[in-house]
Amino acid sequence: MPDQGKLTDIALKIRSVMLALDMGECVALSKIPYQQYEQADGNGKKRLLKAKLEDICRLAGVSMTENHRCLMHEGDDRPSMHLYPDRFYCFACQSSLDIFDLMKRLLDERSFEKRRRMAERWLVAREDEAAVAVTYASVVDTKSAELVAMIDRYGQPADANPYCTAYLRSRGITPETARRFGLLCYENPYTNDKFLAVPCGAKHYVVRVYANRSGNADKYRNAGEITLFQAQSWNACRDESVVFVTESSLCAIVLAQMNFQSVALNGVNYKRLLDASDVIARKKLKIVMLCDNEEVGLQCGVKCAEAIRKLPSPFEFLYHHKLFSPETVLTKHKDVNEAYVADPRQTEEALRKIEMFAQRREDEEYLPGCIAW
Ligand SMILES: [Zn+2]
Repeated sequence: MPDQGKLTDIALKIRSVMLALDMGECVALSKIPYQQYEQADGNGKKRLLKAKLEDICRLAGVSMTENHRCLMHEGDDRPSMHLYPDRFYCFACQSSLDIFDLMKRLLDERSFEKRRRMAERWLVAREDEAAVAVTYASVVDTKSAELVAMIDRYGQPADANPYCTAYLRSRGITPETARRFGLLCYENPYTNDKFLAVPCGAKHYVVRVYANRSGNADKYRNAGEITLFQAQSWNACRDESVVFVTESSLCAIVLAQMNFQSVALNGVNYKRLLDASDVIARKKLKIVMLCDNEEVGLQCGVKCAEAIRKLPSPFEFLYHHKLFSPETVLTKHKDVNEAYVADPRQTEEALRKIEMFAQRREDEEYLPGCIAW
């Protein structure tokens, strides 16, 4: 391995994604379909592999728009290296680095043939494998005392683990944010399945699998009741302010990273939101539900709105869903995490608009996609 001290920040990030891929870890990367790859000739195959650099860099959180400090020449204080879909190019020293060059430099693998085979293993779907992005096992919730004790004993800070860091980056979450919310990770030493544990209140974690190596890592799924993840507790919210409610805690964390107030249902069960109706109503909080852009998400928003109307102390509620919205960065993607990873600036702008709308600063002007109740 090259001396890590000499690698630039983006080189380290790309290297951590490459290592995760090499260990067969589950990072959200869509693969090259088997048929397409098999039918290509030698140069075509190389082109297909090279074109995956952009995906790898996206997972590593490397900007496509800003320049980076050159990986090849020293003292590049005014960054001159730019990322194109299939290579980095430095305007100062004219270096051009494709995926194979990066593998050589970052993993210190000198044989081109070995690098080519490695890239195939990372990036080409097997014959029997769908080429779509890996989907993660759904959120697993538990109140099992043994599991909590195990996490307390073996959990390590998520930001100290390169695989977990790569996974979190693929969800738009920085290591600083992971530290701020005390995210932990651990590995089952027998199966090598890797888990992320999100603290949700005292002695309670929501656990999700981020590398399901055994293919059978869902054994905690049925335990326990759902707990809210609160980036900001109800009582700490400013009176009359807007609070976003999401399905997943990782979405709520990305919102908090952008300095929005957020709470996660950890699923689509909104009972715990209703349980908090007294404090929400007393503080006149404005709840905005950001449903996932799927059928269950939409239903959750509608049902929750109906349930709130029947409460003794109803509160202000609106939900956002793609069926009522033109295509925007928020509706094009499955959830806030994916929108944020694709375009952080536009995502934040879209969310500020919704926040302003919920605050009624814009004279009740209609905002497409937002259903006020
Ligand atoms: Zn250079």
